Amino acid sequence: MPYAYDTNNIFARILRGEIPCNKVHETPHSLAFRDINPQAPAHVLVIPKGAYVCFDHFAAEATEAEIVDFTRAVGQVCAMLGVTPGADGAGYRLLANSGGDAHQEVPHLHIHIFAGRPLGPMLA
Ligand code: IMP
Repeated sequence: MPYAYDTNNIFARILRGEIPCNKVHETPHSLAFRDINPQAPAHVLVIPKGAYVCFDHFAAEATEAEIVDFTRAVGQVCAMLGVTPGADGAGYRLLANSGGDAHQEVPHLHIHIFAGRPLGPMLA
């Protein structure tokens, strides 16, 4: 089934500079910014600049350059936030809601990075 991308979704508008964001990091193919409604002391969203609805869309159609850039951007943000796992107990959680059952609100792929407090066990 082809993926239908809504060019007026809020992250597309952020990418076009139509609405502001609290930018954390930018690479040639990716943008990271603070979530407007943070669920942890550090809550950053990383998005590809390309028009991808969800993770499987990105995995199927993104170029290798985009996939490498996006993956590295997520890791770079974790390092910038100072939450890479270490003896101090730091760490983070990555989450990519995709589709209705996952309650994806914004139909542009985004990875949530949660960190800055004990996050508890993973809940389904
Ligand atoms: P989803 O349920 O995984 O799609 O999460 C969408 C996320 O986008 C939520 O955590 C929202 O708080 C966040 N969000 C929505 N609009 C904005 C915005 O304009 N800037 C930053 N984050 C946003």
